[in-house]
Amino acid sequence: MTTPYKHEPFTDFTQEKEQQAFSKALEQVQKVMGESYPLVIDGEKVTTDEKIVSINPANKEEVVGEVSKASQEHAERAIQAAATAFETWRYTKPEERAHILMRAAAIVRRKKHYFSALLVKEAGKPWKEADADTAEAIDFMEYYARQMIELAPGKAVKSREGEANRYMYTPTGVTVVISPWNFLFAIMAGTTVAPLVTGNTVVLKPASATPVIAAQFVEVLEEAGVPKGVINFVPGSGSEVGDYLVEHPKTSIITFTGSRDVGTRIFEKAAKVQPGQQHLKRVIAEMGGKDTVVVDEDADIELAADAIAVSAFGFAGQKCSAGSRAVVHEKVYDAVLQRVIEITESRITAAPESADVYMGPVIDQDSFDKITDYIEVGKQEGKLVSGGSSDDSKGFFIQPTIFSELSPTSRLMQEEIFGPVLGFSKVASFEEAIDVANNTEYGLTGAVITKNRAHIEYAKERFHVGNLYFNRNCTGAIVGYHPFGGFKMSGTDSKAGGPDYLQLHMLAKTVSEMY
Ligand code: NAP
Repeated sequence: MTTPYKHEPFTDFTQEKEQQAFSKALEQVQKVMGESYPLVIDGEKVTTDEKIVSINPANKEEVVGEVSKASQEHAERAIQAAATAFETWRYTKPEERAHILMRAAAIVRRKKHYFSALLVKEAGKPWKEADADTAEAIDFMEYYARQMIELAPGKAVKSREGEANRYMYTPTGVTVVISPWNFLFAIMAGTTVAPLVTGNTVVLKPASATPVIAAQFVEVLEEAGVPKGVINFVPGSGSEVGDYLVEHPKTSIITFTGSRDVGTRIFEKAAKVQPGQQHLKRVIAEMGGKDTVVVDEDADIELAADAIAVSAFGFAGQKCSAGSRAVVHEKVYDAVLQRVIEITESRITAAPESADVYMGPVIDQDSFDKITDYIEVGKQEGKLVSGGSSDDSKGFFIQPTIFSELSPTSRLMQEEIFGPVLGFSKVASFEEAIDVANNTEYGLTGAVITKNRAHIEYAKERFHVGNLYFNRNCTGAIVGYHPFGGFKMSGTDSKAGGPDYLQLHMLAKTVSEMY
C-alpha cells in the first residue's frame, strides 16, 4: 500500500534555520560549478568535444557546467537504444515502474535544497521560486506513480453473458521529450517521468540554457533503477537534434513544452509520415501564454494589486502562466494601478543570493534584448509608470516594468514578452473585461478578482482559458490540485498533473474473450 498523494510542502524562508540550510546548499552547489556532464545513450556515458556551456544568468562569468553536445548521429543512436529497450520495458509491471518513480522522488527529496540551489545558479531563480520548482518535480513523480498504479487494471467496461471484456492501457513507444528552461526541473522531470511510468522509453533533449539540472536528474533516475536504454540523454541544438528526433520514424510521442512557434512547427513536422513509419505520432504540446488578471469594480484593491504583482513578476515574468496583462474596471483602475506600483517598487530585484530577493535576472542575452526592445515598444504604445531600466553588465537584470493606458490590441497587450513587463488596460464593464481577456490567440491561464457571484458564473463560462482562478493570482498551479494546460495557441490542453494526463502516453486496448 502506498500513502495517499499530497503535494510537497514549500519551505518557509522566514525561518532562520531554513535560510541557513539553504545557504549551506548554495555552498555545496558552488563546489560542483563548472563540472562536465556526458550524454547518456543506452546506459553508456558519451563525452563529446563540443559542449553546451551553462552559465549563471545573474553572473555571466560563472559557468554552472559544461554538458556534452549531441549530434544527429547521437540522436540516431539514442532513438535506436530507446526502441530496443522498449521491447522489455513495455512488459515491466506498472507497479514496478511506479516504485522506481517513488524512489526517484525520495532521492530528490533527501537533497531538496541542493537541487533548488542548483536552480538558483542555473536559471537565476529566487529561492522561493526554486523551492517551488523542486517541489513540483517531486509532486509529478509522486502523483504519476500513484496514478499509474490506479490505471494498471484498466477501466471498467460491460461484458455480456459468456464473454469477458477488458479495457486496458498499453505503452506506446519511443517518446521524445523536449523541455524548456523556465521550469527547468519540474517540467523537464514531469514530461520525462510520465512516459517512463506508462511503459514508454525516453530520449530527453533539455533546453540548451539549462542542461545541468537535466543531467543531474538523469543520474537520479539511473540511481532509482531506470534500466539502460529506457532513459537516454541528448542535449543539443533544438533545430538540429530537436528536428531530427521529431522526424524520426521510430518516434511515437513527442512531448514538447516551449514557445508557440517551435510548438506549431513540431506539430506540423510530426504529422508527416516518414518512410518506414508504422504509426501516427502523438504530440503533447504546452506552449505560450498572454495571461490576464481581470479586476471588477467591487474588487478588494489590496487583493487585486497583490494578485497582479505576483502574477506579473514571479520569476521575472518568465512563466507561461505569468499575468502580463491587467484589465481593470475604470472605477478602481487608478487605485489598483497605484497599489501595484507601490508593491512592485517595495520588492528587491538582485542576484538571488539571499531569501529576501523577490526577482532575479532574466535567462540570457537573447531574452534580455527581446524584453528591452519590448520596453521601447511600450513607451510608444502606453505610459511608463514604473521600472523601465536594465543592466546586463554582470547579469541580465531588468527592473519590473509597468505600462498603463494601453490599448487592448497593442503589441504589449497581445504578444508574449516572457519577461517582467506588465501592461494595464482600462474597461467600462465586466463584460468588456472578459472580451478583452479573450482577445489574444492564447488561452492558458487567467484570474478574476470580484465579489460578484453573477460575474463569477459569467466568467466561468466565457473566459476561455485552460486554468481559470478567482480571487487569487493566475500562476502557481499545483500538481494534483490544479491540472495545468491551455487552450487555443497555448497548446493541446494536455492537463499536466491531472487525472487524464498519463492516458495521453498510452494506447487503450479492448480485449474480448468468449467462454
Ligand atoms: P523554446 O525556445 O520554444 O524552446 C523549448 C525547447 O524546444 C528547447 O528545448 C529548445 O531547444 C527546443 N527547440 C527549439 N527549436 C526546436 C526545433 N526546431 N525542433 C525541436 N525542438 C526545438 O521555448 P523556451 O524559450 O525554452 O521556453 C519559453 C516558452 O515556453 C514560452 O513561450 C512559454 O510560455 C512556454 N512554456 C509553456 C508552458 C506550458 O505549460 N504551456 C510551460 C513552460 C513554458 P534549444 O534550447 O536548444 O533551442
